[in-house]
Amino acid sequence: MPCRLLGLCKYETNKLVRIQSVRLGSLKWILNGTILLVICIMLLWNKEYQQFDLVVSSVTTKVKGVARMHLPGVGDVVWDGVDYSGPAQDKNSFFVVTNVIVTKNQKQGNCPEVPLKGRLCRTDKDCKKGDWDQLSHGIQTGSCVKFDVLKKTCEVSAWCPVETKTNPPRPALLAAAENFTVLIKNNIRFPAFNYIRRNILPEMNGAYLKSCKRENDSLCPIFKLGDIVREAGEKFSEMAIEGGVIGIQIKWDCNLDRLMRRCLPRYSFRRLDEKESNRTLYPGLNFRYAKYNMVNGVEERTLYKAFGIRFDVMVFGHAGKFSFIQLIIYIGSTLSYYALTTVLLDWLIETSCYSAEVGQNYSEKKVESVQDKQKCILCVSYVDENNIRLVKRSQKKSLQDVKPMLVQPRKEDTGHLRAVLSLLQPDNGVDHDAEPPDAPKPDLNDRPSRPAWCKCDRCSPSSLPQEQLCCRRSDGACITTSPLFERLVLSRSLLEAVLLYRDPLCPLADRGQTADLRHCAYTQYISWRFGVPPEDTHPAVPSCCVRRIREKYPSPDGQYGGFMPARTASMQACANGEL
Ligand code: ZN
Ligand code: ZN
Repeated sequence: MPCRLLGLCKYETNKLVRIQSVRLGSLKWILNGTILLVICIMLLWNKEYQQFDLVVSSVTTKVKGVARMHLPGVGDVVWDGVDYSGPAQDKNSFFVVTNVIVTKNQKQGNCPEVPLKGRLCRTDKDCKKGDWDQLSHGIQTGSCVKFDVLKKTCEVSAWCPVETKTNPPRPALLAAAENFTVLIKNNIRFPAFNYIRRNILPEMNGAYLKSCKRENDSLCPIFKLGDIVREAGEKFSEMAIEGGVIGIQIKWDCNLDRLMRRCLPRYSFRRLDEKESNRTLYPGLNFRYAKYNMVNGVEERTLYKAFGIRFDVMVFGHAGKFSFIQLIIYIGSTLSYYALTTVLLDWLIETSCYSAEVGQNYSEKKVESVQDKQKCILCVSYVDENNIRLVKRSQKKSLQDVKPMLVQPRKEDTGHLRAVLSLLQPDNGVDHDAEPPDAPKPDLNDRPSRPAWCKCDRCSPSSLPQEQLCCRRSDGACITTSPLFERLVLSRSLLEAVLLYRDPLCPLADRGQTADLRHCAYTQYISWRFGVPPEDTHPAVPSCCVRRIREKYPSPDGQYGGFMPARTASMQACANGEL
């Protein structure tokens, strides 16, 4: 069935561990409640339930004001908006002239160049016909002429006379521009919501616009230039000399939800160019333009070098409106925060801050260790220790000396215990045990010399490190000398009963095979000493016990394949020369 092959017929879910505890339960609800509160605050504070759209806008401006000023070489003039706005306006910005250098009545002709950076000449040889560079006002004619009484400069073919002043006049000629006003018209649109608005609000009428002032009404769309510059942290009279750039920021932060509809502009100002004019090269802002006229059929021009302030209007903003989809997405994204409760409580339990007892119990119930197939973990039990040690098999160190990875309490195999105890009843006839005739009697005098790792004096020497294991940690009597060893591990009638218990219809001849009895004796020893061995570990039988069991149930040819519990048979790592 394809459904079965693809695994579509199953559903897997997580297994949970429930700890019955008032303290942990209330802690969980307190933490979950706190998280819920934070989520709700974030939801309302950041308007996470809204869909957002960015502003699209257009800006137009109109500067108004007149000022009288004295132009050197020209006299008193009155300038209005047309004069001081400069020749052209950029998109979303306007320019106001605040200072000017005027060169009147320029005509095409030859005249001396300005002695810029000491460019003087003495004879015609110093000047080269047709020469020019970036600082030149015209093309050299090749003659050296008088500039003034003291200096001589190269003659140029240019608009004559050439502009001689380089530094702007101080104070600024048009410092009165401070009192000029500008009307900013800003139309915005939020395309996603098809919402249109102006900064001149519907409730503003002509009378309001004539009287409104920035100082007492932050929504007034008419600004005095002096106020703008002051709010940007600058002094108008200083900035007017060399010019500069000021940014006018209009921020729209709109809430288009029906109940809380609010969409008003907020104005702020700051200087955009480098302020420290004496530390910067080419400070301020200036450009040249000319006005042309014909005098007696000859074209003349008036050259203006205009210094001024450019105001750039920048519009930012976004609008939000309730969106069910956004709300669902937000709620979905916050669900993971509840995992913090689990992380915190798990940490609390495991760090024994809470209770060491519960921690151990909880870890056992919650964590199931699975060993990698290639790893072979042995478990070792000593008769003079209550715990079971888990050790990694080593190829070099004797098993007796390997340091334990973990020490665990022994888990009683109650089923086995009950069965063994019932089999040990006197009427089961343990005393009728008959030694097989061919079993050699253990001869204590014939014992080989005691290996260094043996503490019980009854182990056989072995060259394999995994076989070098004694029944005890410290010197003392061997477990094989215990009367219970005889009855629980070696007793033929008990072993036969166990074999029969496993296979009730097994013929007596098969039951009595010494190999089966020997292997059964090993399992008896393991169940006795280890109870239920920890998961994925392999119990190791001490050398003295192996020796005693082999003495009792010897292999006819003296060859032993090594004992392998059924569940370890597949494990290559343990299969070779184990026990
Ligand atoms: Zn020993
Ligand atoms: Zn021993």
